[in-house]
Amino acid sequence: MEIFDKKSIEEIRALLQNAQKIVITAHLNPDGDALGSSLALYNFFKYGADCKVILPNNIPDTFKWMPGCNEILIYNEENAHFVTEADVIFILDFNTSARVDKMQKILEESAAVKIMIDHHPQPQEGLCKYVFSDPEAAATCELLYLFFDSCKYTINKDSATCLFTGLTTDTGCFQFNCTSQRTFEVASKLAAMPIDRAEIIHHIYDSYSEGRMRLQGYVLSNKMVVFEQYHTAYIALTKAEADKFDYRVGDTEGFVNLPLSIEHVKFSAFFMERDGIIRCSFRSKGDFKVNIIAEKFFNGGGHDNAAGGKSYKPLEEVVNRFVSLLPRITKKIQDK
Ligand code: 5GP
Ligand code: MN
Repeated sequence: MEIFDKKSIEEIRALLQNAQKIVITAHLNPDGDALGSSLALYNFFKYGADCKVILPNNIPDTFKWMPGCNEILIYNEENAHFVTEADVIFILDFNTSARVDKMQKILEESAAVKIMIDHHPQPQEGLCKYVFSDPEAAATCELLYLFFDSCKYTINKDSATCLFTGLTTDTGCFQFNCTSQRTFEVASKLAAMPIDRAEIIHHIYDSYSEGRMRLQGYVLSNKMVVFEQYHTAYIALTKAEADKFDYRVGDTEGFVNLPLSIEHVKFSAFFMERDGIIRCSFRSKGDFKVNIIAEKFFNGGGHDNAAGGKSYKPLEEVVNRFVSLLPRITKKIQDK
């Protein structure tokens, strides 16, 4: 089935032609795909309508080079009126309004026409007039490229750079299972544009701080706990430990994937104290679904192989609970 149906696309083209005020938003703790899709759209609109990207919280340093990043607004009382007054709001890389945290109420209440483009399963009903959701897509950036294509919009180099960034980060450099033939087709179209792929990869993967590299070494040698029987590994990091390595937002991005490089590990979890709550990240290999675990036990959700959640309990309690759940929740991957 076609995701971007002709009728909706025609309506949206007409809508955007007349829209005076456009707001673009993405999920809390934005990653490369959330920022990539938001800024790709922003760079497309920026010379036309009054367009603002408003995000619920901070942007990791790794992505501050992205074109348009300096113009992003972090949501607060002063800029809330943009959400209220918008004609059109794009909801990118998230599927439920709870994912924008403090912006939730104002987003729900805005009379703007809302358009969701996203790849998380089960989009919230009643939030958006137009919902373009495809959990088969590797990234929201993949879908956004198809949206531009359906609208017959020609994108500029900056938008292509942002789309390629999101595609790269959400696929782990095109290695995760979610990477499909279509992902490569979109990547190939972007690669045909005058973007600097080497520069993009350099910004994402060769620009870590010394602290982050040392923190990675520390968590792998001192903090990774492996349960062979459950094919599971987890890492739990306190704020004090992270601070010792000059922790900055984004520094632990990707840590949850590291234990999956061990041959027998099929399920990996990462827990970290951040902003007074415990952030939980889950990853898996194969058909072991972690979004179900995130949703059922950790107040979250996500994709089959990559999900997250949160807890307001102390770190130790969260970890103990996780460990106590393992015999039950890993039944599918246990050695019998
Ligand atoms: P990460 O582990 O990188 O924070 O998140 C992995 C995936 O899970 C992302 O696709 C993200 O959108 C989703 N996710 C992370 N945290 C939450 C959460 O608190 N609630 C929901 N519904 N999804 C989350
Ligand atoms: Mn995404």
